[in-house]
Amino acid sequence: MPATPPRTLSPSKVSSFTDCPLAFRFSIIDRLPEPPSPHALKGTLVHAALEGLFWHHPAGERTREAAGHELALAWSALQSDPEFTALGMGAEQETAFFDDARLLVSNYFELEDPDAVRAVGVELGLESVVGDVRLRGIIDRLDLTDEGDLVVIDYKTGRAPSARFEHGRLTGVHAYALLCERVLGRIPVEVRLLHLRDPVSITALPSEQSLRGQRQRTAAVWQAIVRACDRDDFRPRPGPLCRSCNFQSLCPAFESAAEPALVAS
Ligand code: SF4
Repeated sequence: MPATPPRTLSPSKVSSFTDCPLAFRFSIIDRLPEPPSPHALKGTLVHAALEGLFWHHPAGERTREAAGHELALAWSALQSDPEFTALGMGAEQETAFFDDARLLVSNYFELEDPDAVRAVGVELGLESVVGDVRLRGIIDRLDLTDEGDLVVIDYKTGRAPSARFEHGRLTGVHAYALLCERVLGRIPVEVRLLHLRDPVSITALPSEQSLRGQRQRTAAVWQAIVRACDRDDFRPRPGPLCRSCNFQSLCPAFESAAEPALVAS
């Protein structure tokens, strides 16, 4: 029986499908329950603190202390989040979790001076029809330069990719540039990834050409999703992500990959 494609496409759904169509099916189409992820929850916490820094503190008052205050507020709110409580962390683990989030927020100040930033949007949701699909994304922060140009900022709490994988990671962020062009009528001059753990900043420079490539890529991925849904054919794509996949027990490729190890032991 054909499966129903998602109503919208986002950069994360594109990554999910291209990483492994079968995991995409389980997660996005079937919406199978997945255990909460400490990594994702820490990302949410850090994003909330930096969001608060720009929402509640004007330029000149965006200090480390202000960021620490916002982190404490976000931490307090997280305590009643069912996904966080489901992690069942003990006091020691919670302390380590919070200390690591505090380090990431502190590292942010190594990458830029927030008092010098003119943010015109924070957690900005953008949505537009691209070809046959509705593309949507949430931009962590949209800045305006002194020259009146737009810069997209994306906070990352994981490690920065090696030079070998950098290009692949930047492919997704061009979707944000495409959304800016479609919704705001302007191509941002930069899309900047702030990797808070390293800390390092990686910059992509969108152009007419990169946007054209992004439009083609979006259309191609959407067609592949629709085709997979029509045929109910979502193939597993084994790779490094299998190690942390939530659907190992449902995946024939994971079982066959595990067999030689079991025999060897
Ligand atoms: S275990 Fe690997 S191949 Fe199987 S669904 Fe998960 S990511 Fe895909």
